Amino acid sequence: MGFEVTDTTDFVQSFQIEGMNVRGRVVHLTDVAERVLGAHGYPDVVSGLVAEALTIAVLLGASLKFNGMLTLQTRSTGSVRMIVADYTSPGIVRACATFDREAVESLGPSASFEDLVGTGSLAITIDPGEDMERYQGVVPLDEDGLAQSAIGYFERSEQIPTAIKVSAAMLSERGQGTGSTWRAGGIMIQNLAALGGTQTVPSDIAEEAWTRASTLFATVDGLELVDPQVESERLLYRLFHEDGVRAFAHQPLEFGCRCSAERVMSVLSRYSREELSDLVESDGMIGATCEFCSTTYRINPDDLTNGEAATP
Ligand SMILES: [Zn+2]
Repeated sequence: MGFEVTDTTDFVQSFQIEGMNVRGRVVHLTDVAERVLGAHGYPDVVSGLVAEALTIAVLLGASLKFNGMLTLQTRSTGSVRMIVADYTSPGIVRACATFDREAVESLGPSASFEDLVGTGSLAITIDPGEDMERYQGVVPLDEDGLAQSAIGYFERSEQIPTAIKVSAAMLSERGQGTGSTWRAGGIMIQNLAALGGTQTVPSDIAEEAWTRASTLFATVDGLELVDPQVESERLLYRLFHEDGVRAFAHQPLEFGCRCSAERVMSVLSRYSREELSDLVESDGMIGATCEFCSTTYRINPDDLTNGEAATP
C-alpha cells in the first residue's frame, strides 16, 4: 500500500476499496475548525453542530468535478434555527449558525440534536458557477443528527447507498498546557455499483461487497475521526486492509470567506431609503457584520444609490 503522507492538518482524502465499487472520503479539520469556530464564540453544543456541518459539506463538496460551491443549510423550529456550511472548490470552507443563545444555554451542555433543532429540513445546494443552473435537494432533518440527515439526502435525491460518520470535539493539545482546540473529522463511503455504469459486477456480488464495507465502516469510533494520533491512513488500513484500500493524496482545506464591502453594499442597495435610515448608527454609517467570518463593514449610506437606479 503506497500511501502518500503529508503534514497537512486540514485535508480531505479520497479512497477506493480494491475489488469493490465502493469509494469514500476522509476529512480532518484542525486549524480550520478552530478558525471557523473561533470567529464566532458560540456555545459548545452549537459549535459542535457547526463543525459537523462543515465536515459534511467537505465530504460532499470534494466530489464536485468543476469549480463550484456546495452549500449545506438547515432550517428548523428549535433553538438552533439555521446552520450553514459551504465548500468552494478547491477546498475553501466557512460556516455559521443562527440560534437563540438563552434557549440553547437553558438546554445544558448535553442537549441532543433533537433538543437543539426540533424539526426542520436540510437543503444541499450545488452551484456550478458561471451561467450554469443551480441544483438543490431538500430532505427532512433526521432526529439522529446531521450525518443521518445527509444519508437521507443521498437515499432520496441521488439514490446512492451511502454511510457517513462525523465527529467534533474540544481536545487538549498534548504538552501544550491547559488550552484545548476544536477538531472535527468525518468519513463517508458510497456504493457506486448502485449507479450501474460501465462496471459489470453482478449485483449479488456488489450487494455482498457493500454489506461487508458497511459492516466494517460501522466499527468507526467518533474519537478515531478527531484524534490527531490516528492518521487517516491508519484508520483506512484498520477498516479495509483485508480487501485492500487505495488512498489518494491529501487535498488541503482552508478557511475563506467571500464577503466584501461591495457585497454588503449590493445587499443594502435592495433596501428602501426608509429601511436604510433605520439602520444608520450615531456616526452616520451603517454597520454590517459578516455572519461567517465576523468581519465588520462600515458603509456610508451616501455611497448607496437606492431609489436612484435607472429603470432598465
Ligand atoms: Zn465574511
